[in-house]
Amino acid sequence: MRILIASSELHPYSKTGGLADMVGALGKYLARAGHRVGIVTPYYRHLRSHSPPFPILKWAMDLPVGSRVLSARVRYHRPAPRLTIYFIEQPFQFDRDGLYGDEAGNYPDNAERFAFFSKAAVHLGRYLPWQPEIVHAHDWQTGLVPLLIHHQHRTDGWIRPPATLFTIHNLAYQGIFPASQLACTNLPGDYFHPGGIEFYGQVSFLKAGLVYADYLSTVSPRYAREILEPEFGCGFDGLLRQRQNALVGILNGVDYSEWKTRRNPHLDASYDARHLRGKTINKTALQKEMGLPPDPDIPLFGNISRLADQKGFDILIPALPHLVSEPAQFVALGSGDPRFESALLDLARRHPDRIAVRIGFDTRLSHRIEAGADFFVMPSRFEPSGLNQLYSLRYGAIPVVRATGGLDDSVVDITEDLDRVNGIKFHDYSAPALLKALHKALALHPKPRLLEFYRVNGMEADFSWRKTAADYQQIYDRLAGQKRA
Ligand code: ADP
Repeated sequence: MRILIASSELHPYSKTGGLADMVGALGKYLARAGHRVGIVTPYYRHLRSHSPPFPILKWAMDLPVGSRVLSARVRYHRPAPRLTIYFIEQPFQFDRDGLYGDEAGNYPDNAERFAFFSKAAVHLGRYLPWQPEIVHAHDWQTGLVPLLIHHQHRTDGWIRPPATLFTIHNLAYQGIFPASQLACTNLPGDYFHPGGIEFYGQVSFLKAGLVYADYLSTVSPRYAREILEPEFGCGFDGLLRQRQNALVGILNGVDYSEWKTRRNPHLDASYDARHLRGKTINKTALQKEMGLPPDPDIPLFGNISRLADQKGFDILIPALPHLVSEPAQFVALGSGDPRFESALLDLARRHPDRIAVRIGFDTRLSHRIEAGADFFVMPSRFEPSGLNQLYSLRYGAIPVVRATGGLDDSVVDITEDLDRVNGIKFHDYSAPALLKALHKALALHPKPRLLEFYRVNGMEADFSWRKTAADYQQIYDRLAGQKRA
């Protein structure tokens, strides 16, 4: 099968969250399974320092964005057999410090930037010599892709376009812009209505994907059910209920060749489910690195996150002083909302022996926190898939999570299954409910046999990409079959 993936982030080239990890692994595992895979992604500023520079394809594009025409070059990279990355190089749009914004907030021309990127992706989909059968777009940044393909099929002589799959990684990010921004898509006004891409008088790029893709997926089975309800549907639950027969939830996998506890260059010591001594060495190293008193016996809780509303900081921050009034330590790594950054830093100042916080984005430290922590806290208000709880399971950091979305699908509480228990869940979105779950963790910690039982169950659980990629292949097969018929 021939598949073109379009994504605004791609590990290991660009990343702000789980989207990058997911797309990077999806491409890699599809190519490994024998498919021809292309991934199209923007050529952001930091990629210019890649050595040697990615070569330039003999293929320049000139694409309209409103009344202007912008030119782009395509750079490429072949990291593995059958896998090609296509970088869209458009300096005016992508040669910037951030992917989506800077300290001042989102870039004001994001509609134009990602309309242009979506057009470039569709252009590749149409004219690449290897003729993709499937175009797989992700999140609002590429939401226009299915619509542009639909439009070119309808009006512009694209006789046999590829089938389109659109994956929702997070329904809360909707790519909503003033109606005037429709102009930068160069689409006719007849798509601008409530059954098209209008969303309460504005335009939503996410909605373009939800309405016009042949098939929809999201990143966990539970989230696929949750978004059909008003509470999690972010205004799209009605539309999604209409499209329910074309919507599936597939839990993200883990790329275990990167997220590993043995021979991991980021860690001080190797360990695995049967040899946990190395975990203690990593714990002490983490405590030292974060400026906490090294103590192998004190329960150490970790958190790595975008500091966003969704991630539960408004219940975590009031719970933390109570947690650390017991013998316990907490380390956090994250960046985002300045309110949460300063509240966490303030807690660290007030409890220097108990709480340590690092503001920033640091992949190395994220591995070290997973490896050093005894417990990993994810109190998300909602969580489409969540990757950190999956990494935590493999790293033996027992997850303490709210039972929502992918967290509920991947963590097993003792009340659900005595034999497979691997974490602690709570239900109410409140600081007392979280605190109760944290106290369960504190009660578990001094029971070495039980603690090891949880840990080993988690470390041996299999969330490998083989299964996730097979589920996507099934959808591609079905879609390509329907197109051929
Ligand atoms: P989301 O995509 O909503 O941010 P996920 O749990 O699905 O949440 O994925 C987050 C990914 O981003 C994980 O790989 C996580 O380790 C990484 N990550 C988040 N914040 C940071 C950070 N500050 N430093 C390093 N990695 C981070």
